[in-house]
Amino acid sequence: MCRKLFTNTKSDQSSSAKNSSNGDVNLNIITRQEHTISRAHISDNALKVLYRLHNHGYDAFLVGGGVRDLLLDKEPKDFDIATNATPEQIKQLFRNCRLIGRRFRLAHIMFGREIIEVATFRGHHQEPEKNQSAQSKEGMLLRDNVYGTVEEDAERRDFTINAMYYNIADFSIHDYANGVKDLKAGVIRMIGDPETRYREDPVRMIRAIRFAAKLDMKIEPNTAAPIKELAHLMTGVPAARLFEESLKLLQSGQGWATYQLLREFDLFSSLFPTVAQYFTPEQNSDVEQMVEIALKSTDKRINEAKRINPAFMFAAFLWYPLQKRAQELAVERKLSQYDAIMMASNDILDDQVRHLAIPRRHSATVRDIWQLQLRLTRRTGKRAFQLLELNKFRAGFDMLEMRGKVEQGQTEALALWWQEFQDAPSVHRQNMVQALGTQKPTGRRRKRPNAKKKSTKPKAQE
Ligand code: ATP
Ligand code: MG
Repeated sequence: MCRKLFTNTKSDQSSSAKNSSNGDVNLNIITRQEHTISRAHISDNALKVLYRLHNHGYDAFLVGGGVRDLLLDKEPKDFDIATNATPEQIKQLFRNCRLIGRRFRLAHIMFGREIIEVATFRGHHQEPEKNQSAQSKEGMLLRDNVYGTVEEDAERRDFTINAMYYNIADFSIHDYANGVKDLKAGVIRMIGDPETRYREDPVRMIRAIRFAAKLDMKIEPNTAAPIKELAHLMTGVPAARLFEESLKLLQSGQGWATYQLLREFDLFSSLFPTVAQYFTPEQNSDVEQMVEIALKSTDKRINEAKRINPAFMFAAFLWYPLQKRAQELAVERKLSQYDAIMMASNDILDDQVRHLAIPRRHSATVRDIWQLQLRLTRRTGKRAFQLLELNKFRAGFDMLEMRGKVEQGQTEALALWWQEFQDAPSVHRQNMVQALGTQKPTGRRRKRPNAKKKSTKPKAQE
């Protein structure tokens, strides 16, 4: 992979002899004339913050993904700033500033909906008596609120391509870990010893995957080597953090590629153990087919700049595990299909939330989408018209359509019926419903011989 990031290669050559694999960093400065980052591509608010810090005598750098993505000619997701000003000093400069974070205090400068994150350079954490850091037995960092120099800050970052600093004082790039070289070569390389760095923070393993998929880069062999063996450390990561990470991984436009890499590195099961239970060597179980369809469709929507609902992905991933759990419960406890699904919904969501904390507002939508799968089979009388009015109808229908691709047969026919019903003028809709009235009940009931004894009407909300 060859990328044209620079107007000449002088700095590249000067940096090529240095290597940061021992954890040391070597500064390589790329002057304004030698790189392609222009202030026109940096958000006005980020520039305001950089300039104000600089004008008050502080060092101020744009850092991390902002620099990396600008060099790749991509639009950065956010702009992060690093400085030698302490959070309190930052707060004095900005009225619109909030200090946040327990693990490490950060300043958020608020500009309407845009938030510019400003972090004071972080220091080392190996000397417990000198600072207040702490590590767990596995080597995981529990606290790291220690300020340091810019060099130390660079060493603490994860990958070389994330440790480039754009200096507002002279518009140069300070490249501490040969990130420029790796960016050109398309390489994700950990700064320092990969195993130690993964033990400090296991989320770095899924970050390696995320950047490899997002930037279409290769993970450098030493950086990739320890991941499978350390994948189990993911269980120590708080479930709330994993929820946030899962969205960044799977809902950023490269979800399908990311999922495949996560599987390859045995990391997917730490996020979705219930889903991973149904993985097959051929990768074609109904669960796997649904994951593939859901991720490809999410990627497509994101790349078309359409809105996506995070709950939809969870509903789709867990739909077949839910069916299997419901079937077990129906047999074990002699429950109706409806009751079994309701009980299985609780089980499946409880299991999932223990690993990856889906917030309640999303899990409520997941349940709505699942319930709609039952309700969409009942279309006679006014029901079809009422269902169409529901808030979550679209999500429920989209999921039915995906199920149609997996299950085919009657599910596919039902999805087609609903598609036609939505597209049809109202007279035709009436005809469609009337035509159902003259038909035998749908295959859904025929599929449930054990429910015959019960009333034909499930305890749905109708
Ligand atoms: P993007 O925002 O495009 O997803 P990013 O690289 O900006 O990518 P952020 O999560 O915004 O990622 O983090 C900003 C920077 O903070 C990173 O570029 C990296 O330098 C540093 N960083 C973030 N998370 C970690 C971590 N777990 N360990 C070490 N450094 C990290
Ligand atoms: Mg970022």
